[in-house]
Amino acid sequence: MQSRVANLREAMSRAGLGAFLAWKPENRRYLSGFVGSHGAVLVTGEQQYLITDNRYLEIARGQCTGFGCVLQEGSIEQTVARLTEGASRLGYEDDFLTVQGHGSLAKVVGAELVPSAGMVEGLRLYKDAGEVESVRQALRITEDAYARTLPLIKPGVRECDLAVELEYFMRKGGAERIKANFVLVSGARAALPHGQATTKVVESGDFVTFDIGAIVDGYYADFTRTVVVGKASDEQRKVYGTVLEAQLAALEVLAPYKKAVEIDKLARDMIAAAGYDGKFTHSLGHGVGLFIHENPRMAPGSPWTLEPGMLLTVEPGIYINGWGGVRIEDMVYMTEGGYENLTRAPKELMEL
Ligand code: ZN
Repeated sequence: MQSRVANLREAMSRAGLGAFLAWKPENRRYLSGFVGSHGAVLVTGEQQYLITDNRYLEIARGQCTGFGCVLQEGSIEQTVARLTEGASRLGYEDDFLTVQGHGSLAKVVGAELVPSAGMVEGLRLYKDAGEVESVRQALRITEDAYARTLPLIKPGVRECDLAVELEYFMRKGGAERIKANFVLVSGARAALPHGQATTKVVESGDFVTFDIGAIVDGYYADFTRTVVVGKASDEQRKVYGTVLEAQLAALEVLAPYKKAVEIDKLARDMIAAAGYDGKFTHSLGHGVGLFIHENPRMAPGSPWTLEPGMLLTVEPGIYINGWGGVRIEDMVYMTEGGYENLTRAPKELMEL
């Protein structure tokens, strides 16, 4: 945590900030270790504070090593005003603070409020060994829950029955939380990239797609597999094979210092060449960490270059309205010499 605060101070000094206020839950957890629903991290040139109320003060003292844990006097804004007296420029998360929050901060703080969205996220792009270990654990829990759920997929079972089993297995596996609104779709509904489980009954011949993730230490797993209930049709084989080939091709060329846009284009062009132009309707991948969708993005027009320390997904898909769809998703950790695929679950076409 201390090196994270030091890195933030460097970014602050480059931006001419005397202080920085992190209110976003992921950012304040990243900087301080604080896991609570109410509080803010304030970093000044010399000090770092976690400001919270009586419900969380003792918890914060246990979690936030190296931080001054401060009981808010009045509001958090008033406490920030007191602790930043004399600072001329205070950075804040303009992609998080509400208009009302900005108003109440501006009313009491003497410093100029400087929109500084992305400053902590810039540090969060590069995951250290501890962060990767948390993701690894989250993935193991997720894959284990998936493996335990596979035998339950039969004609007649409802999507929501499978969803609750998955969630139960992930919780039993030790997940801190589960990715909210996870995807579980079957049959024609498998054409919905972000559809959620309903009372629809799974039928023979359905594709079933899971896009699930356990959370460990705040870090998300992001994992997608598609299976067929019963025997796959020729068209299902073709669609599945195309998605799998596109993913394997992307993984083949993936390497540090490559342009994200080129990897995306390779997978997208392969899917189009197989006759599914326009059916791959989302990005090829995204960063994952304390939040499910982080930078970098691997998508058309993406400005990102892949760098060691980045942790991202590779998840091509094909979606055909009224018929169904397939997505296959792995998580990769970029290293100096290449990358490590953190996902282990098999991805050959599975007919249940
Ligand atoms: Zn994803």
